Amino acid sequence: MTNKKNQDLMDKLVSLCKRKGFIFQSSEIYGGINSCWDYGPLGVELKNNIKQNWWKSMTQFRDDIEGLDASILMHPSVWITSGHVESFADPMVDCKSCKMRFRADEISGKKCPNCGGELTEARQFNLMFKTHMGPVEDEASVVYLRPETAQGIYVNFLNVLAPSRQKLPFGIAQIGKAFRNEISPGNFIFRSREFEQMEMQFFIHPNEDEKWIEYWKEERMKWYLSLGIKKENLRFHQHDKKELAFYAKTAYDIEYNFPFDWKEIEGVHNRTDYDLSRHTQATGKDLSYFNDQTKERFIPYIIETSAGVDRTMLVCLVDAYYEEWVLNEERTVLRLDPKIAPIKAGIYPLVKRDNMPEVAKKIEDKLRPHFKVFYDEGGAIGRRYRRQDEAGTPFGITVDSQTLQDETVTLRERDSMEQVRVKIDDLVTILNKKIWGV
Ligand code: ATP
Repeated sequence: MTNKKNQDLMDKLVSLCKRKGFIFQSSEIYGGINSCWDYGPLGVELKNNIKQNWWKSMTQFRDDIEGLDASILMHPSVWITSGHVESFADPMVDCKSCKMRFRADEISGKKCPNCGGELTEARQFNLMFKTHMGPVEDEASVVYLRPETAQGIYVNFLNVLAPSRQKLPFGIAQIGKAFRNEISPGNFIFRSREFEQMEMQFFIHPNEDEKWIEYWKEERMKWYLSLGIKKENLRFHQHDKKELAFYAKTAYDIEYNFPFDWKEIEGVHNRTDYDLSRHTQATGKDLSYFNDQTKERFIPYIIETSAGVDRTMLVCLVDAYYEEWVLNEERTVLRLDPKIAPIKAGIYPLVKRDNMPEVAKKIEDKLRPHFKVFYDEGGAIGRRYRRQDEAGTPFGITVDSQTLQDETVTLRERDSMEQVRVKIDDLVTILNKKIWGV
């Protein structure tokens, strides 16, 4: 549960994100719109780095997963077949006095948590956003903004299978926006109404489901650890019978210890043959798979790994946030893993004279094709370091008077604040090693 200290931490993080240009409230100058967020210069870099890291781990570093980018608007029947039109709903209650709306499972007692007023009976509230396609706004033109990216993968199963010449087991990965008209959005970017998902659907023989769910559970946990997230802040939660979706056989959530509680960041689910069977029944298109060695035909089971980009980003920020005392001065530092840090290195002339800015600029030109770097000559060197500590920049390169004599610079590490002298010519190799380990 959220206590004062944890609330303070969230408030500080939200304010740092605004101040440094990670995350802004959407349409802020109009007073903002609830539960939508804009990613600023540092935010979009961090977000892209997380997505790229996931994308490569799925589609580059292994040969059994193909990528896909399906459209957000799909045939409305997809959402009838998937069960979303009928049952993608949260039970909600309204307060008869203050008119606030709450998720029935999130309130205890029978009174309004806001004003103590009387509540209505719980009603189902469909979470899908509707819009219309074409010039006429009637029932026939209704389309939905997708509430998950997964359906785009299922309906393209055969389209991907044929050209890629994959054999089972194999997967399809997709990153994209999803929309849910959440009743209680909140906790910053944890629950919003427009968000991004990174989903991978792995198609397998039904007899192998237990092996593959175990495999993907472990793989996905390893991925968070590879982003530098602390092990003690991650855990699995297995769905019990009450929580399990009606089509799922087994389901695990990966949870993170957020300041506001342990909460889901990713689902690893055994969805059985539900999705492909349903789409086969609805369309008459045979989505079964033929194994030409065993001559067996069957509808594949699906193991799904479904992660939120925004939630992962919040995990990275919370896990990296530190306040510490250094030489009687407090510093705030984001200890982001160098792989995902928005800016990899700050470049600083010690003073704004003696040719130091020119030399530093040359170093900037040399590094820019390899890394996102930031040149800064404004203010005392300590202040410049602190500004980049707060931005999560892992390295600082400083040009001083010795540089002018022997072409070396100091390389400062954000976390230890240690400084070593290195040759300018070795910077690319050293940074590659420190960031990527190669
Ligand atoms: P919750 O119980 O928190 O509503 P869920 O079980 O509905 O989540 P899934 O449908 O399994 O979530 O979606 C997979 C992932 O997508 C989640 O683990 C989360 O990372 C992300 N996600 C889902 N809903 C949201 C949202 N409203 N805002 C941000 N991310 C979301």
